Amino acid sequence: MGKYDPEKRTVLAATHWLAEHGYLGKRSSGGNVSLKIANQDAVAITPSGRPYFKMAVEDVCVVDLDRKPLDSKLDPSIEAGMHIGVYKQRADVKAVIHTHQTYASALAIINRPIPALFDEIIVEIGPVVEIIPYAFSGSAELVKNVAGKLGNQCHCYLIQNHGALSLGSDMERALKNAELLENVARIYYHALATGLDIDTLPPDAIDHFAEMRNLRFS
Ligand code: 13P
Ligand code: ZN
Repeated sequence: MGKYDPEKRTVLAATHWLAEHGYLGKRSSGGNVSLKIANQDAVAITPSGRPYFKMAVEDVCVVDLDRKPLDSKLDPSIEAGMHIGVYKQRADVKAVIHTHQTYASALAIINRPIPALFDEIIVEIGPVVEIIPYAFSGSAELVKNVAGKLGNQCHCYLIQNHGALSLGSDMERALKNAELLENVARIYYHALATGLDIDTLPPDAIDHFAEMRNLRFS
């Protein structure tokens, strides 16, 4: 067994779940998944441009925080810089999922942040899902634009004209957040389509659940 096999397996299992449930595409490559290696300046991350169902444990790359390969047969995702940027800025984050999931991406192309709509979203994701301004996939500018938004301590973001970013203190939480994001994005999309007014939660609910969230994540 390879030194990083447990982390590679976690990345692969998450990737397969996301692909199976339509978050990444099945034959095409739309998204990437990474896990911070505990007590080491390194991450396990999906390789670039590989069909997810053909991916094997040994295809998952391990790179250091300068993107230098530590245990990689293939090139890491072109978004490795974005994933690493998240780990550098947010010590609370140990798993990062970037997807092209449908409803979140629909909101990302109409440039519509998701406001505080449901209690559990505030607790798990945060009071708003903000839009990260567009930059080319894999670019240093995109890494900079992501860094500009991470300070709100939320667990999900929309990337303008691109997709979504979900974070977690472990892979299970990151997966759960990606799923919660897709659910709320779908509901918000359908509510917007009615053309009727949308009620957001009252400010005291935002404060109340923000407190619960602080307790849970501090
Ligand atoms: P990779 O296949 O290099 O991970 O790229 C997919 C992607 O989603 C780019 O934003
Ligand atoms: Zn992408």
